[in-house]
Amino acid sequence: MKMTGISRRDFVKLLGAGGAASALGLVGGCETVPASAASAASAKAAPRVVVVGGGFGGATCAKYLRIYDPSLNVTMIEQNANFVTCPGSNWVLGGMRTMADITHSYAALRSKHGVNVMHDRVVSIDAARRSVALASGKSVEYDRLVMAPGIDFRWGAIEGYDEAASELVPHAWKAGPQTLLLQKQLQAMPDGGTFIICPPPMPFRCPPGPPERVSMVAHYFKTHKPRSKILILDAKEGFSKQGLFMDAWDELYPGMIEFVPASKGGKVQRVDVKTRTVYTDEGLTTHKGDVVNFIPAQRAGAIAGASGLANESGWCPVNQHTFESTLVPNVHVIGDAAVAGDLPKSGHTANNIAKMTAASIVSLFRGVKPPLPSHVNTCYSLVSPEYGISVAAVYRLNEKGVLEGVKGAGGLSPKDAPRLQRVQEANYAQGWYKGITQDSFG
Ligand SMILES: Cc1cc2nc3c(=O)[nH]c(=O)nc-3n(C[C@H](O)[C@H](O)[C@H](O)COP(=O)(O)OP(=O)(O)OC[C@H]3O[C@@H](n4cnc5c(N)ncnc54)[C@H](O)[C@@H]3O)c2cc1C
Repeated sequence: MKMTGISRRDFVKLLGAGGAASALGLVGGCETVPASAASAASAKAAPRVVVVGGGFGGATCAKYLRIYDPSLNVTMIEQNANFVTCPGSNWVLGGMRTMADITHSYAALRSKHGVNVMHDRVVSIDAARRSVALASGKSVEYDRLVMAPGIDFRWGAIEGYDEAASELVPHAWKAGPQTLLLQKQLQAMPDGGTFIICPPPMPFRCPPGPPERVSMVAHYFKTHKPRSKILILDAKEGFSKQGLFMDAWDELYPGMIEFVPASKGGKVQRVDVKTRTVYTDEGLTTHKGDVVNFIPAQRAGAIAGASGLANESGWCPVNQHTFESTLVPNVHVIGDAAVAGDLPKSGHTANNIAKMTAASIVSLFRGVKPPLPSHVNTCYSLVSPEYGISVAAVYRLNEKGVLEGVKGAGGLSPKDAPRLQRVQEANYAQGWYKGITQDSFG
């Protein structure tokens, strides 16, 4: 494994030098820190880190903990046998990918990186005893715990939409059976039918996800059911990369897509999943869909709330330097579940945060100052298989300890770019997917 920009010796020096380590924000792949250097501080038993959740945050953190310090005893607890990525799940709806293409195993974490992967569900945490209890009845002890449970939904926040309702009107905002259900409904829809999508209020995972879904469904309709329509009933006034998406929709899918913002009657008040009817405007206006995709408001994964890691916002406050919880000591919360300043909730940031948190944990075990973080997010969206757009940004801690976007760094794909650039960005999107999944699970 190659280091990005810094050598093996420099990494050890940087960890020792603490604050000088902002270069670590660039760690796309860090070479193994020699066990001898790692364990000089601790001749006793290897420290134990337990990671809860094997998504972009958890899997990356478990892997990089072992890469940064192979003497660590790292256990990752994940409830599912494999991981199905949300990135790429819209491409499945568009017919560009299969579910198998977006399903990843944990074999490499076990065999290549020496992570002890357990398939079980964490039901509670005993912070005083530093142990987690599992649905199987087992418990696992830790010196430091990393929680990466992703999101859960605020069931019942909108009348008529609870977990049972999602079996009729899917959210498909966790990839897997929900993605397949939505795909099946779209395939069964008659040509000339209406697909209604209802994006959630902020904050939610992957802000450009709903317009990318609209694009991929539009691509599917254009190919298979060209008389069909898409109605976006939004809880917000606008959406990520809106200008770029709308220009592309006008060009690729003219007349197919209608966007209704909250102030113009887009805010959903009630859903009747049996008749696939959505009520807006204090319930005065009804919209009947042939397929409805309702994406509920979100909060940190349920286990985070149940463990006292979330505050009244439903999300988990952390020290944005080390991602250690401000509510429960020795527990780090990473990925979508954490409150992370300006960082969007994305697989890319979950992967970034995971690596920085792994470096922080190794530093804390060694008694040195954790490196200063510098985070990156790049989000590609496909509007069609040959039309990609992106947004990128860099984030650093400000004087208040909050992660803030660095002015002038990153930006959006240019408006009115030549078509070749859109084609290139579509290729980059697929390259990004390969890279991030390899880095997280490979
Ligand atoms: C349609 C869509 C498209 C997206 N596209 C992109 C994209 O193009 N680029 C991008 O960067 N991001 C994208 N995202 C966002 C991305 O999927 C999330 O931000 C990312 O998955 C967050 O990582 P995480 O580790 O916090 O959570 P997750 O990846 O969801 O992982 C959480 C894991 O924790 C496990 N878990 C939860 N509770 C327990 C428990 N009690 N016990 C054991 N295991 C548990 C879950 O089973 C899950 O495997 C997209 C999201 C959606 C919905």
